[in-house]
Amino acid sequence: MTATSKTKTVRTRIAPSPTGLAHVATGYIALFNYAFAHQHGGQFIIRIEDTDRARFVEGAEQVIYDSLKWLGIPHAEGVDIGGPYAPYKQSERLDIYKKYAEELIKKGHAYYCFCTSAELETMRNAQQKAGKLPMYDGRCKQLDPKVAQERAQKEKHVIRLHMPDEGKTEWEDLIRGHIEFENALVDDQVLIKSDGFPTYHLAVVVDDYLMKITHVMRGEEWISSTPKHIALYTMFGWEIPQFAHMPLLRNPDHSKLSKRKNDVSLISYMKKGYLPEALVNFLCLLGWSHPEHEEVFDLQNFLKHYAIDRMQKTAPVFDFNKLNWMNGLYIREKLSAAELKKRLEPFLPSDFPKKKFDTILPLIRDRLVLLADVESLTDFFYRDIVVDKKALQFKKADDALIAQQLLSSIEALKKTDWTLQSIEAVLRSLQEKNDWNKGQYFMLLRIVVTGKTATPPLFETIEVLGKEKTFQRLEKARSLFA
Ligand code: GLU
Repeated sequence: MTATSKTKTVRTRIAPSPTGLAHVATGYIALFNYAFAHQHGGQFIIRIEDTDRARFVEGAEQVIYDSLKWLGIPHAEGVDIGGPYAPYKQSERLDIYKKYAEELIKKGHAYYCFCTSAELETMRNAQQKAGKLPMYDGRCKQLDPKVAQERAQKEKHVIRLHMPDEGKTEWEDLIRGHIEFENALVDDQVLIKSDGFPTYHLAVVVDDYLMKITHVMRGEEWISSTPKHIALYTMFGWEIPQFAHMPLLRNPDHSKLSKRKNDVSLISYMKKGYLPEALVNFLCLLGWSHPEHEEVFDLQNFLKHYAIDRMQKTAPVFDFNKLNWMNGLYIREKLSAAELKKRLEPFLPSDFPKKKFDTILPLIRDRLVLLADVESLTDFFYRDIVVDKKALQFKKADDALIAQQLLSSIEALKKTDWTLQSIEAVLRSLQEKNDWNKGQYFMLLRIVVTGKTATPPLFETIEVLGKEKTFQRLEKARSLFA
């Protein structure tokens, strides 16, 4: 445990920007922030960082709450539920940032900058040509503070951080260990933009301080911003929180998991029929390893065993095959039949025969990977199927044989009382008696009655499909070979 957490209530947060549908990485980061706070008897909160007005998306904020609720990650404070440090939305805290920016100017830790975009571009081009790191060259730092103050009343300007020119900024990252940056290589970051809005850097530090955040756990893309944040804490004279930077989720080709390549919004996982329990389990394993090497565990088990020192330092690969495997496993083994039925309800197509749900469900349970598969796994029970003659001609079976197999099957089935046992018994004995190729014969029947090659077990399927439809389909197929 860290010095900070010994003396203070541990408080963690996520600070998502409402710029689109909540990303699966937001769920991933939230999960670990929640676990850390939970483990220390602290609080996990949500703050909305909506100062980037150009990227603001209406409705995105609600989706963040809905997505985390679906995952089962509760927050203690936020815009939606309030809390002692409200408002939790940055656009409602503009006066606060302004006040702190002015304080920095007064102390000489920040300065007004009047450079135009054209000037900045010329500066950047010259630096690039000279093989230097493109960054603000600090020219407005030289202005007399009084003159700058007066100009700021009338001229368009930004406020920049006066980053120390010498020395280094270092910290012990709770995940990545010692990290340090040369101050001279850290840019004089804009803190207040020309539209009067703060940048992320100022707002995040002010808010984390005022909201008493003790541990900042976030994606590693923020590592290079951390020296700026530490500089701000130091300039304000505030205690610096602990930082923990988590590796970014990667595609199997190690590129960053992004919406251009994949469906990455939490809502899309919900809509496809992933179980939140399975996704949470999967996300836990991406960032952390279980001390007892368990692979399948629920959120409570995770909360009980979680410790930051078992967190991943290397980029976790988001393996959809593994996620699908896990989802299927949860569907097969972790839900009661009644619960599964409830979860499947929203995925049932409108023509699904609800009365048959209880008989159909046991047949498909083992084959469901996603809840949304329910339609493709059951449609032949209640929709007409189309069977092509060619689809039945396989494994060297000639037309005469197929015709005979279909006719004999019809006759045999007519003799049954349509129980599973009798259906199975007559069809099996038919196959044995004629010494038909087992694979060929039963696959033929399967395709004839369902239109598919992969279905629930054949005899059960025939039983549930019912006499009328089974005979109809067998006759129709037979007519193809007449
Ligand atoms: N608004 C930032 C984001 O969207 C928050 C980064 C942080 O946690 O400091 O990821």
